[in-house]
Amino acid sequence: MKPKTKLQQEVWNLHQKLLSINEHEPYMISKHEFYYTTHYKNLICLECNHQWKPNQLWQEELVGVECPSCKKNLKKIKTENGGQAVRIITYGHAQVVDRFQVIRYFSCWKNMSKKKKPVYSTHRLFEEWTDYEKGKRVIVGQLACRYGDGFHGTYEVRYINNSGWRSNDYDIFASDYNFPRAEFIPIFQKYTLDCFDHECDYRVLMRKIQSCSKIETLLKTKQKELLQHAVHKDNKYYSYWPQIKIAMRQGYQINDPGIWYDYLDLLRGFGKDIHSPKYICPENLKAEHDRYVEKRRIQREQEKIQDLQKQNENYIKRMSRFLSLEFIDGDLSIKPLQNVDEFKQEGKELKHCVFTNNYHLKTNSLLLSARINGVRTETIEIEMITWSIVQARGIHNDNSKHHDRILELMKKSIPAIRKASQYRKSKPLKQSA
Ligand SMILES: [Zn+2]
Repeated sequence: MKPKTKLQQEVWNLHQKLLSINEHEPYMISKHEFYYTTHYKNLICLECNHQWKPNQLWQEELVGVECPSCKKNLKKIKTENGGQAVRIITYGHAQVVDRFQVIRYFSCWKNMSKKKKPVYSTHRLFEEWTDYEKGKRVIVGQLACRYGDGFHGTYEVRYINNSGWRSNDYDIFASDYNFPRAEFIPIFQKYTLDCFDHECDYRVLMRKIQSCSKIETLLKTKQKELLQHAVHKDNKYYSYWPQIKIAMRQGYQINDPGIWYDYLDLLRGFGKDIHSPKYICPENLKAEHDRYVEKRRIQREQEKIQDLQKQNENYIKRMSRFLSLEFIDGDLSIKPLQNVDEFKQEGKELKHCVFTNNYHLKTNSLLLSARINGVRTETIEIEMITWSIVQARGIHNDNSKHHDRILELMKKSIPAIRKASQYRKSKPLKQSA
């Protein structure tokens, strides 16, 4: 829409003076990964188009591939439309313009082909201009959609509907990377938000750091994984803060906070001393976690849980709006876990804690099962307030070889899930010429 208010007019004028994004391209290209694809029994490097015959295909798929010609480490990707493949990454650039804190979002597309070298293109998504003194902001950008990089249409001032409890598409967006040389207005300078390459979305980080000193501590101590989990996933860091402090004092490296928090839940469930480094800093976290998962599973089975049927009824009632959803991409299908029995089966087959840790009772989580040709491959947790993907895990909590595809289809399908969650049809974002 055309800028209407004085503030929107001011932002629109400043927006037009922003520099182009050509300077971003080399950095963003460096963030893209390299890929290969298959061609009959051969492999093709999508970087240099070299084609060769692998020794053992199954091994290549599991351990990755190095191109014999360009020597790059390649990940597998499926090509479509006559040998084409696309990967999209998004990034944010924090800038100060006049009195505004501006976060500009872009996408960088990598178009690959069996016959040509990759071609990159960078696109503007949207900008958030915030005047912190007045507590006002303006969004300039494309319209949110569910295809490609998630945005399309003309670049203009956007009307944001802030009424109701549901967040809008611009608020829930978080980019994959940050462009370096970030600038912040004085109230944020004390945090040194860019003190290391944490890859948290600056906008989300800024929102959270102002209200929580724990986030600031994680940033200053450069706890990348804990910080990312705290900023983008759940609030477990809050309840397990004493344990985080103990782990940090012990110099204990937490590479997978999701597993660690699950493990702490399990320890607590078994009445173990969760203030003792002996328990909370295991040498082999995954093995200990899996051992407790197994212990709990056996305990649960022995206990003959009386209220399982009631829980099942409640689950089906609560999730009825979602249970008929199914998202399909070729041999991959994703659908919500239909009942508590399915949670049990999913946890058993994939050897993880989706059932043992009572995920079916989490009222703000939607759990989905991703299957390849009907075989359980990964379990996905969607947080139903921010509509973010909290986790997607395969057997023993590892990523399956289809992980990227699963995330891609899941990401694309979130708008349809959000739609299903709505009692009444909500008004679409207003768009006027
Ligand atoms: Zn190559």
